Amino acid sequence: MRRGKALWTGVTLAAGIALLTTAVAGQRGPQQLSVTVSQIKPNIYWAAGGGGNSGIIIGDNGVIVIDPKTTAEGAKLLLAEIAKITPKPVTHFFSTHSDADHWGGADAFPASAMWITSEGFRKELLAIEKMGDAPHKRVPSRLVKRGKESVTYNGVRLDLYHWVPGHTSGDLVIHVPEERLVFTGDVTSNARPEPTLHAHKGANPDGWIAIVNNILKLNGELYVSGHGTMENFTPAWLQTRVKEATETNNRVKAMVAEGRSLGDIKMTLKMAPGPASGNPTYLEVAYWNALLKR
Ligand SMILES: [Zn+2]
Repeated sequence: MRRGKALWTGVTLAAGIALLTTAVAGQRGPQQLSVTVSQIKPNIYWAAGGGGNSGIIIGDNGVIVIDPKTTAEGAKLLLAEIAKITPKPVTHFFSTHSDADHWGGADAFPASAMWITSEGFRKELLAIEKMGDAPHKRVPSRLVKRGKESVTYNGVRLDLYHWVPGHTSGDLVIHVPEERLVFTGDVTSNARPEPTLHAHKGANPDGWIAIVNNILKLNGELYVSGHGTMENFTPAWLQTRVKEATETNNRVKAMVAEGRSLGDIKMTLKMAPGPASGNPTYLEVAYWNALLKR
């Protein structure tokens, strides 16, 4: 009897936890969308929520935004937060790459604002449009070419690096040299225990490692990532990330050279399981890359 009662209590407790979990999950639905702004420099902020992290740079005559959130709703929340900080209009906004959480809100931005992305972004957006998966009207106003371009908007000097392939083949890294601040998009995302590489957009570990090493040479004080918080915005975090990823890539290459299977390599390296999204893990991308280059 006692054992039965204990079991029953356990079931009730489990049901209670399940209900609680459902309630918490419900609170995170689209109706609860929120954007939180944090200051990092006198005139520079980053904004979490509603998509990838955004950057906000207040210049002499207007505001420059990096990544306009996933939807019009998120973009409007971001614009409302900016209006609380400054009466200056948004004159320019960037998209760091072609994943929707970094550009989907573009239509909600002021029509007069310039939308700047990269040549690689445009190529990927065309492929997304072909699949009928891009419900937007707006097209970019400027495409940054491969390599480096420098611009000055609202008195703020920005160095733009279209180095690829990193997280995708359309990445744009935005450096504010005067502030030693770098907006990296998802090249340095902490969304997973290991780097997130979109192989379907041309990413591979060799390219990613080279780009992160280049980013570290910019000698930034802070690297604002497309996902994560201040803890993964530091050079030290990024140095550890690239060191571990380089070691994994080298070990995978060595094992592929020995003719070992993906399953065997996974067992040997004991990597964390991949996400439910179905996108391949870093190790899987490293395996295919090593196999292709063999
Ligand atoms: Zn993202």
